[in-house]
Amino acid sequence: MEIETLLEQIKAYNPEADLTRLRRAYDLAAAAHAGQTRATGEPYVAHALQTASILADFHLDEDTLIAALLHDVPEDTSVPLATIQKEFGDAVARLVDGVTKLSGLRLGMEQTHAESLRKMFLAMAEEIRVVLIKLADRLHNMRTLYAIPPEKQRRIARETMEIFAPLANRLGMYNLRRELEDLAFKHLEPEKFKEIETLLAEDKDDQQAYIQQTIAILRERLAQEGITPVEMSGRPKHIYSIYDKMVRKGRDFDQIYDIRAIRVIVETVRECYVVLGIVHSLWVPIPGEFDDYIAKPKQNLYQSLHTAVIGPAGKPVEAQIRTVAMHQLAEFGIAAHWRYKEPDLHRDLALENKINWIRQLMEWRKDITDAGAFVDSLKTDVFQDEVYVFTPKGDIIELAVGATPIDFAYHVHTEIGHRCRGAKANGKIVPLDYHLRTGDRVEILTAKRGGPSRDWLNPSLGLVRTARAREKIRRYFRDQARTQAIAQGRALLEKEFHRLGLSQRNLDELAKSFDYDNADDLLEAIGHEDLSIQTVSVRLLEAERQAAPAAAVELPAPSVPKSPETMLTVKGVGNLLQRVARCCNPLPGDPVIGYITRGHGITIHRRDCHNILNTTIERERLIAINWEENPRTVYPVLVQVRAFDRAGLMRDISSVVSDERVNILSANALAGRQDRIAIITATLEIASADQLTRILNKIDRLPNVIEVRRVTGGA
Ligand code: MN
Repeated sequence: MEIETLLEQIKAYNPEADLTRLRRAYDLAAAAHAGQTRATGEPYVAHALQTASILADFHLDEDTLIAALLHDVPEDTSVPLATIQKEFGDAVARLVDGVTKLSGLRLGMEQTHAESLRKMFLAMAEEIRVVLIKLADRLHNMRTLYAIPPEKQRRIARETMEIFAPLANRLGMYNLRRELEDLAFKHLEPEKFKEIETLLAEDKDDQQAYIQQTIAILRERLAQEGITPVEMSGRPKHIYSIYDKMVRKGRDFDQIYDIRAIRVIVETVRECYVVLGIVHSLWVPIPGEFDDYIAKPKQNLYQSLHTAVIGPAGKPVEAQIRTVAMHQLAEFGIAAHWRYKEPDLHRDLALENKINWIRQLMEWRKDITDAGAFVDSLKTDVFQDEVYVFTPKGDIIELAVGATPIDFAYHVHTEIGHRCRGAKANGKIVPLDYHLRTGDRVEILTAKRGGPSRDWLNPSLGLVRTARAREKIRRYFRDQARTQAIAQGRALLEKEFHRLGLSQRNLDELAKSFDYDNADDLLEAIGHEDLSIQTVSVRLLEAERQAAPAAAVELPAPSVPKSPETMLTVKGVGNLLQRVARCCNPLPGDPVIGYITRGHGITIHRRDCHNILNTTIERERLIAINWEENPRTVYPVLVQVRAFDRAGLMRDISSVVSDERVNILSANALAGRQDRIAIITATLEIASADQLTRILNKIDRLPNVIEVRRVTGGA
């Protein structure tokens, strides 16, 4: 193809095109690609010419065609984009840059990836024309695919089948799609392609003659009814769709009715039905093959009557009958069949609306002659709520408009988000509040470790746009706060265990006793001071006492009643050793009775204890005792204080204890000579766990006290 041919082609539909400018673009492309050849052996610039020519078939504007001529220049030659910008202006430069960026995409093959690529293409259609150039580029590459190595052929053919053909379809470029599919199919399934191609070709002349004969019969009958169709033609064959139908409907080639197909285009809807009636009166309709898409348009607005009949010589023929307006709609894509021929593609209504909108634009194209207005009309705001950016590997990430590098980082991986410290867009460092733009290649600079900054959550700083990233940051801080609280809770609890001389116990059990699910929850509550350590200590001390009910003296023992009538039973019993019976374990408030043992003082039993009720015991040893009226049951607790010795220390401790109305049963102090550390040990008559922890806390707060703790066992 020569540039002259292209210029002729353009002039035919756009008399106002600046042919000199177009020729300059061609000259620049030819000079830039000088010496480069295509795999076909042609000079490289032939590809540029063909790409532009495909677009001229769609009557595209001058800038698009210039961009098409130059589309491979920045990527494959030493001529930079800046030169194109200088020579042909910003609009052309943007188009060429857009195509270059699309070429840089790594095209994956998974369906979801393909889907996002399709969306992405459309998003890039801030300049739809970029996508159109890319499609034309791909079509020409497919036409010359035979020239490249087979493995490469298959890869590109697959890509075409999975991405470019559906894309063309979505854009309503039905003819483009058809050709892309057939070319891809030819390389993906060469044998099947050949088989169908051969079947179609076998009686190609016969077929054509047959179609012409059918049309002639119909034309004559229509004339008798006073109908002159605008157009009657055989319908072009689409090898891939025949194959697809054979596979989908499980039919042989012979059973595909639209192998012989005619199309009748008339002026009015009424005429459509008249034609249908005549077709059905001429030939027998095949049951189940009639569809009235006029009365019931497809959701994509496609309208037409479809029927299949046993035509002349008993061969099946398909007929499509529609008005001129319906036909234009179909040809320009409004009825791009993408709904019913792609049942597998899940439908995206929002996307669909946007595409319908694009299609309308493409309709306008036919009416708008002013190039400037046309360009403006194509600057769409499709997908204005999303941006599509790339990872360094070329994967596509879809984000809300206004998304920042931090949003991107969290989208890639939570850890990358946490450690995000900086970012590059297209190789240049950008601030973290940078708004990502469709087409940006984003690289995140991460710290080796560490977490997000609290600033990220400050909305006025605009560092994070997406809810997803915000939630991940919040969770990080929540988790971090929890970890800290747990550590703090554990330290408090361990200190308390030591102070109270308690052995470490099963924390999960302890947690359950406070209605927490697990130890961590308990520790977190302690750390946050939702649960006071005091409360826990009291519970622990009580639990300890209950766990060893028969231990002598350390247990709460009832003191001997002081009322006169019971006093007389045992005199001075307060000085006797008392112990709680192991057999019945009476608690304060239980009805009790004393039993005087030989040499071990008095054992206190419940009155209903089986040992007491047993007739063999010596009844005279029983003595009546009662819990005190205002029970002040006490037990001795050994407490040790370590402190830097000072005057008045002992007095201060005594006054803390007496303020609590607690007796000191015994006390001794050891003062170290060298280190001036005093160790004071005292046995206190403690009434309750609560009281013990209170006293320990108060002593702890006295000046010079290093540590105060309860001493148990051999300690
Ligand atoms: Mn190219």
